[in-house]
Amino acid sequence: MTAFGSVFMPEMALTQFDGEKWSDFNLVPCDSISLHPGAHVLHYASTCFEGLKAFRHADGSVKIFRMDCNIARFDQSSALLALPAIDGEQTRDMIIKVVERFAKEVPEVPGSLYIRPTHIGTEPAIGKAAGPSTTSMQYILVSPVGDYFTGGADATLRLLLEEDGMRCAPHMGRIKSGGNYASALLPTLNAKRDLGIDQILFCPNGDVQETGAANFMLIDGNTLITKALDDSFLHGITRDSILTIARDLGMNVEERDLSVDELLERSQKPGCEAALSGTAAVLTPVGTLLHKGKEYQVGDGKAGETTAKLRKALNDIQWGLAEDKHGWLTCVSS
Ligand SMILES: *Cc1c(COP(=O)(O)O)cnc(C)c1O
Repeated sequence: MTAFGSVFMPEMALTQFDGEKWSDFNLVPCDSISLHPGAHVLHYASTCFEGLKAFRHADGSVKIFRMDCNIARFDQSSALLALPAIDGEQTRDMIIKVVERFAKEVPEVPGSLYIRPTHIGTEPAIGKAAGPSTTSMQYILVSPVGDYFTGGADATLRLLLEEDGMRCAPHMGRIKSGGNYASALLPTLNAKRDLGIDQILFCPNGDVQETGAANFMLIDGNTLITKALDDSFLHGITRDSILTIARDLGMNVEERDLSVDELLERSQKPGCEAALSGTAAVLTPVGTLLHKGKEYQVGDGKAGETTAKLRKALNDIQWGLAEDKHGWLTCVSS
């Protein structure tokens, strides 16, 4: 099987900001762009992106999940990086256009078409380490994908609880920006090599935040606990969807700080579950926590029932098997 996100449809939607306005967008070949080697993004990481999915329903229709939330976050990431403001309507049109173009190639569920809007600072200005790029480029790539975690439905993840380092600078956490992933990469690679873990759960000063690319949730009986929104971590749209579904199912949702101590204590209770949420990960069970050289099983260490139930409820909406009562799907004509 090919790696997640390594196959692209041959065209993407692209527009450029010339300092004053966005150009009309076009569908262009996706295998190259032209960029000055002094482009702002290549030196000062003026870049942000989004990740969302389109699904094929049984009737053949193609539906994009929570697109407007992703566009709002893209707009905010651009603003927080001092990139030119996006035109949300245009970005919406670009996403729909490119998904329509490849509607026939959207895989059957559980596969999907992964959509990757990208915004980069293009001004050739290496003197602007402390200045914004006045020009930029936005493009929408699409990539057919299967399941992100290939271990199967019952596989669980091993996470290292890291209290000393952090994923990125605290004021950057909510921005979906390239530099944040570069910042988390080496600590994660080292921990994978030395400790055989799957991901680091970053917990600076004992505050349980998130992993390199997914949000963290603890499920204790009928209660779901996850960190309340602040600037320090990425505000996942899957997180929001799962919390909404959990409330719909009558669960207590606690959005609040969770300490490493509380996490380790609660996770030892029978029936306790933990999971990672994200567009790619959906809701993936966590079986083991590593902390200061000790291993802690979460509950019985196996994939939990409530995690599976929440994941299924989300997939059912995305796949057209349950009513879309929150209006999360946008239909694309094919
Ligand atoms: C994208 C991302 C998430 C998950 O966000 P979704 O909108 O649910 O896909 C969580 N954490 C980080 C760091 C991310 O980049």
